[in-house]
Amino acid sequence: MISYQVVEHGKPLQKVLSETPRPQGTEVLVRITRSGVCHSDLHIWDGYFDWGGGKRFYVKERGCVPPFTMGHEPFGVVEALGPRARGVKAGQKRLVYPWIGCGKCAVCKAGQDNYCVSGSRYLGVNRAGAYSTHVLVPDAKYLVDASGVEEAYACTLACSAITAYSATGKLPALGPKDEVVVLGCGGLGLIAISVLRAKGVKRIVACDIDDAKLAPALKQGAARTVNTRAPDAAASLQGAAGALDFVGSPATASLGIAALRKGGRYVLCGLYGGELVHPLPPIAQRAIGIVGSYVGSLQELKEVVALAKKGKLKPPPVHTRPAAEANAALEDLKAGRVVGRTVLDFETAS
Ligand SMILES: [Zn+2]
Ligand SMILES: [Zn+2]
Repeated sequence: MISYQVVEHGKPLQKVLSETPRPQGTEVLVRITRSGVCHSDLHIWDGYFDWGGGKRFYVKERGCVPPFTMGHEPFGVVEALGPRARGVKAGQKRLVYPWIGCGKCAVCKAGQDNYCVSGSRYLGVNRAGAYSTHVLVPDAKYLVDASGVEEAYACTLACSAITAYSATGKLPALGPKDEVVVLGCGGLGLIAISVLRAKGVKRIVACDIDDAKLAPALKQGAARTVNTRAPDAAASLQGAAGALDFVGSPATASLGIAALRKGGRYVLCGLYGGELVHPLPPIAQRAIGIVGSYVGSLQELKEVVALAKKGKLKPPPVHTRPAAEANAALEDLKAGRVVGRTVLDFETAS
């Protein structure tokens, strides 16, 4: 199989040829056709997350040690099954749920693999991922039938859409006049707007520092847009019932939390980096919630796929490029040149 691997953090990925694994036990081997490029891949590529105040979290501490294959938006064809694998057949096209836990801890048993407390096996994060012609999946139950959804768009459901969907589920109960602020209109923000619309939320305020990203946000269904570089940006966001932060910088956190009305909730998804410094009394006095959200559960992925199949989600712009251009795709994302989502095509990588 061919993989595009991080051989040294921060250096270009290298094309590596290795033996295609044989599935054992309940494992399933999937031949990748499409693989989404996510913003968090940039941090894995760099080798660390910025915790602010000069502190860093190194990805090697959670098992991501080069040579490493990134890619947590896998879509492909079932190629081979282990002797105890059940529920799929060779040749079937499937979306792979990548947020796989240990399967044994109480959290995993409650269906929340993405919050596994005793040994996560996240594909492309601490297990070999989908920047590769082949991915080994521990069990067929992590394969989701997304037939009817265009492949390049379908793969993005595994991270960007599920993350947005799970985040919207953490908002407080919304009345018809309640506003929800969406901070950051890259791939995640755009799909979040679409998810909110599908859930019947109409008063969505799309925010970004780049007007080029605000235009597609309006097309996705935002009621209004705010360029957060404008001097009156903070004032124009006041009174929101909820804020979804897909950037996760000190600036967006400040804006999102300050925008909340009493009882409002700020949901943090973005991993840009930095630290939060906020006075404590008003958190209690305003009864606001500050909550993190990390990807989503297998059940949530199935719900997102169901919405996509019914045409209830509006796909963000998706640009497909050959897998051999993985490095250029990462560079473009890093430079902020991507509107929507980039997907690697692995059918041309043989
Ligand atoms: Zn991701
Ligand atoms: Zn677990």
